[in-house]
Amino acid sequence: MRRTIIAANWKMNNLMKDAITFFSEFGDTALKSENEVIIAPAYPYIPLASALSKNRNIEIAAQDVYPKAEGAFTGMVGGKMLADIGVSAVIIGHSERRRIFGEALELIREKVKFVQENGLHLIFCVGETLPERENGSMFDVLKEQIYSAFDDNLTLAPEKITVAYEPVWAIGTGVTATPEQAVEMHAFIRKILKERYGYEDSRILYGGSVKPENIQGLLSHEDIDGALVGGASLKASSFMKLVNFQAVK
Ligand code: PEP
Repeated sequence: MRRTIIAANWKMNNLMKDAITFFSEFGDTALKSENEVIIAPAYPYIPLASALSKNRNIEIAAQDVYPKAEGAFTGMVGGKMLADIGVSAVIIGHSERRRIFGEALELIREKVKFVQENGLHLIFCVGETLPERENGSMFDVLKEQIYSAFDDNLTLAPEKITVAYEPVWAIGTGVTATPEQAVEMHAFIRKILKERYGYEDSRILYGGSVKPENIQGLLSHEDIDGALVGGASLKASSFMKLVNFQAVK
């Protein structure tokens, strides 16, 4: 049985005062939930988030990492720093990093390797753009993203490898993939993880405009093991509803 993950990606949102309000309202929600809860604040607020979520069953994640321990890499945050501030999970390959910051497959592969070498929980994002969906190439796109990052490069235990299927056209747009579309892509990813890498127990999350109103339609399906949430994770009131959701498969 794979435990459901509800993960928050705050991106470049939520200042110090917002984080304080969030954690005071969120309280012990994660302790009472059956779901695994992950929150990824922006770098400057990670220590604050770690302190405010202590003993509350919340895993604090980084939204990215530069794949070096330390050194002359101006503007970057590396592995030693993340370990130093108590980060145990990292999001890699988010579509905003791929598209806005031009992260190429090779760099993403290096990051995947680095996260594993450091024993962190990898949350690896994949997903197609709207033109790629419209021209039917979404399966090839996902294959390329997964193969280039994982081939001869997977070392972690399955429970520490989480894949997030995030169709780019659904991120921050208010348009959610239909449960049928999501299920089809999750089944495809599950098959690759199992047949190509022998990973049966990794979680596969759906991301893209998940909110309390649509979580049930998505998470009731066998292959959808949770959600990676942007906009609806910024305020405790809506994120609590997602964390409290109990999936009946
Ligand atoms: C995301 O960026 O990972 C995401 C899923 O965002 P949103 O929920 O806002 O679509």
